[in-house]
Amino acid sequence: MGHILSNQYYCSQCWWDFEKAPSPALLPNLQQHPPQISQSQLPVSSLQPPALSASSSGSLPTPAPPLHRHKHLPKRQPPASSVQPPPLPASSSGSLLPAPECHFEVCWEFQTGDDHAAGGEEWQSFQADAQKQIESAHAIVGQNPQDGDGKMHLLTNSLTYSIDFATMTQKNMETGRCHRIRRGQRLKPEALRSLQEQADFSKKQQLEITNLKKTIRICKIFSKTRKQHTEKRERDAKDQERQLRARVSSAEVEAETRQRQFETQLDACKREAEVKDQKRREQLDTVEQDADAQQRVLRANIDTLQQVAATLTEDLQKATQAESASRLQMTQFLHQGESWRLGKQLEIPHLTPIDCPFLVAIIENMMRTTSHHGPNSRCSPMRQAKVLRVLKVHNVRLGQKYDSRCKQMLQDHADQGVAVGPLTPDVNSFLQSTIKAFDEWMHLEANLHECLLLHGSKRQNISEIVSSGFEERLSRQGGLYGEGIYFAEESCKSFQYCDKDGGENSMILSRVLLGDPHYAKGPLGQMKISPKRDEADATKGRHNSVVANVGTPNGQPPPSVQEHREYVIFDGSQAYPEYVVIFEV
Ligand SMILES: [Zn+2]
Ligand SMILES: [Zn+2]
Repeated sequence: MGHILSNQYYCSQCWWDFEKAPSPALLPNLQQHPPQISQSQLPVSSLQPPALSASSSGSLPTPAPPLHRHKHLPKRQPPASSVQPPPLPASSSGSLLPAPECHFEVCWEFQTGDDHAAGGEEWQSFQADAQKQIESAHAIVGQNPQDGDGKMHLLTNSLTYSIDFATMTQKNMETGRCHRIRRGQRLKPEALRSLQEQADFSKKQQLEITNLKKTIRICKIFSKTRKQHTEKRERDAKDQERQLRARVSSAEVEAETRQRQFETQLDACKREAEVKDQKRREQLDTVEQDADAQQRVLRANIDTLQQVAATLTEDLQKATQAESASRLQMTQFLHQGESWRLGKQLEIPHLTPIDCPFLVAIIENMMRTTSHHGPNSRCSPMRQAKVLRVLKVHNVRLGQKYDSRCKQMLQDHADQGVAVGPLTPDVNSFLQSTIKAFDEWMHLEANLHECLLLHGSKRQNISEIVSSGFEERLSRQGGLYGEGIYFAEESCKSFQYCDKDGGENSMILSRVLLGDPHYAKGPLGQMKISPKRDEADATKGRHNSVVANVGTPNGQPPPSVQEHREYVIFDGSQAYPEYVVIFEV
């Protein structure tokens, strides 16, 4: 058996180089059949080594049976020349070598059909076992031609034949039918396979070559296109360059023209500027002369003004001295006002009018400002209140009573463990600060919610309050929050208790000790004393006052709630009248 080494077929007896082997194109029949087809179907190769026929024919006494050419070869070839290799095409002769003898084997064939004379030759190979029997018998007959009759019996395919090598015929012993036989050659199966492989390999190479040729063709086309493209670009570039050169030269010409124009304009401008400069210088001279004149006038004015300023400074000094004297006078007066604390009641009357218009104006502003801003018509008159007089109250006995009540309340709170929290909301701060602005000795006890509040009343009651103090037993009946003494922080509310008959009205600005207040949740009816701190525990004592905040339900016609905050005390000694304000609306 042979095998493939590179592109050579090695058959153990020779080296058969594919490159020197016959081209597959010259073996059309081999290419049509796969290598694995059975031997009986294999066609006889047309390539026959000349040495085989020469040696075999020479050893036979009888005319050697010719090695017949293949059935597909053209018939015009004479039988005598069929043992020779067929003539090769001139173009391939240089590279073609005939296949070596060792690649062929003997092949016995018989003719099918009866019409020998008609030339209807159909040759068929014997089966493999028959081949061996016939070749062995043929060899014996060839070596000993004198023995026997040159015939043999062949048993194959359950049939018996008589073969005559002299006539090269076979006879079916049962039917008696006779056919011609012949001894030919054919390629060995392994050689056939190698040729097929060679053919396949060659075919692949040809395919590759075809592909390479295609690639080369494409490359050539691409190269040609690129060359054309490059040439076109070069032409375009040259065109552009020509155009640019033309533009540059025209631009240069234009620039030159413009420069000439510019120079002309520049000369004109310079001349114009010189003329203007001359004019400006003349104007400047005129202006400087005017300025000198104006400066002289201004100096004169400044002198006059400085004299006026000196006069005014003198006046200011005089005014300042006068104001200092006035302040001293006021301070002395106010000291006198607090004199009740020094027990000098016998020397000073209960009421002293304040004749300082400045203080009266402050009180009037307070009365107007603390008036309610709401749309209620009862409130609006106080926005235009006119204060006529303000009287300072000096009442030593009343003051001492108030002081002792204050001390007593502090002691009560300490004994009962009452801590007075902040008033909610805080009392009108404008009212407090207005009074404190001119009465700097006034001290208000924050721990007892001591504050300044307004009390409105009929004219006839004022003198009694000033001399005897507030009297809870004289309180009017029907008050919403008990039968106590009512105060307010809004002048419009207190005005509701005044005469309102068009004449002079009076209002008392009082210190009030609210102490530990009870915040009313609604009307309190005919109470004569402030509520208990704890209804279930009398030892905890009572509140010191009642506060009815804005919004507290009062059981009155709509809006049925407090529009003004009201403060109620049930003990007259918890208030001291500081000022009596006489006003009209
Ligand atoms: Zn060989
Ligand atoms: Zn009001």
